[in-house]
Amino acid sequence: MLVSLPISPKALADYEVFVGADNILDIRELAGEMAGSSVLHVNATAYGGGVAEMLYTLVPLMQDAGLRADWKVIQGNDEFFSVTKIMHNCLQGMDIPITTNMKQIYEHQVLANAKMMDGEYDYVVVHDPQPAALPHFLGEARRKIGKKWIWRCHLDLTEFSVELWEYLLPFIQQYDGVIFTSGHYAGEYEDRMPPITVITPCIDPLSPKNTPLDHQTVTRTLRKYGIDPERPLITQVSRYDPWKDPLGVIDAYRIVKKEIPDAQLLLAASMATDDPESWHYYEKTARHAGEDSDIFLLSNLQGVGNLEVNAFQRGSDVVVQKSIQEGFGLTVTEALWKERPVIGGKVGGIVLQIEDGVNGHLVDSSQACAESILKVLKDKKGAVRMGAAGRDTVRERFLSTVNLKGYLELFRGLDVAKEQHERKKAVHEQH
Ligand code: UDP
Repeated sequence: MLVSLPISPKALADYEVFVGADNILDIRELAGEMAGSSVLHVNATAYGGGVAEMLYTLVPLMQDAGLRADWKVIQGNDEFFSVTKIMHNCLQGMDIPITTNMKQIYEHQVLANAKMMDGEYDYVVVHDPQPAALPHFLGEARRKIGKKWIWRCHLDLTEFSVELWEYLLPFIQQYDGVIFTSGHYAGEYEDRMPPITVITPCIDPLSPKNTPLDHQTVTRTLRKYGIDPERPLITQVSRYDPWKDPLGVIDAYRIVKKEIPDAQLLLAASMATDDPESWHYYEKTARHAGEDSDIFLLSNLQGVGNLEVNAFQRGSDVVVQKSIQEGFGLTVTEALWKERPVIGGKVGGIVLQIEDGVNGHLVDSSQACAESILKVLKDKKGAVRMGAAGRDTVRERFLSTVNLKGYLELFRGLDVAKEQHERKKAVHEQH
């Protein structure tokens, strides 16, 4: 049996101070129409990475809105997660052949998870490719477990591998709806997919990761890890993964260091259980960093948790997210919310968040990244202006309540679509 994760309660009312009473009222009205409906979220990891991060807020907020929301994590071994990581990489643009053996490993494990599924839900939301084939392998039991199935893909799909997409498509076609972060991600496949809804991810302003911290806590946390709060700090908070380009960040830092010798670089990561590749990439990054004692490579293994990430982001003079592909980039949202200027790769979901020159800079090389970092470090007033603009961006578009509303509207839309479908069928049968 797949077990439900324990959920700490959250209250919608607590978000009123950020988004206003009208917004909360809208959500309550919308949720009222589907009070008591049950929702199951299924993903591949309970911690590490943006999906888990969001579910820790979305699930309890759905509960507070009156839905019976639940969250389960599929099981898998290293072999399975290595295959799904390759799939993940291929969906983001790598060209790696998907062998028969890989398909067997994937299908075998998803089938095993399907056999462990139970319960009855109105809506099942399946996140990302790892559990994507669940409805297929549930067969007859599919409609009993979930009346409606939604696939929520968080990846940047602008350059997906066609071979893998063709393999996954028959699994995806069994869903009643699909959610992407950007309307561009389905490309020419839109006609062959279930109806697509665009919902951007979001951050929780009340989570320990984003809640305000006093100056003393920030500096104490930096010092604890040997970082000097008095010297310029450049930070990237990201998994050790080629798409996050930590090596490119180190190159950019080295260019900056020539002009600002006391600059420090912090790379903080959490090692997710569904990402065995991260260990290999951590070592690669460490080799690239070499003996430079102003580069700090930290992870959850040194006790970096939500509070530490919060303090690192707040204590940074500039936050970098130099991704080469990025579904959305919650780390960008988190830093914008903390009024930090953010330098981001000009890709995927980052371009939905950073307006070049307004709340940060968009870059496509280490050289450009270094130049933008230097610009921010040298213009303190400009950095403050950018920070304020960043906070407004997030308040308006990327807080948890926006995400919740997106899901509720989608659920309601699916019901309408079903009603229309059934009405049409009834008319058809009468004739
Ligand atoms: N994160 C964290 N600790 C770390 C590194 C990352 O808690 O050491 C969090 C980060 O704050 C963000 C999420 O993991 O909330 C990463 O989400 P993002 O969308 O940026 O990237 P993903 O890992 O999902 O590709």
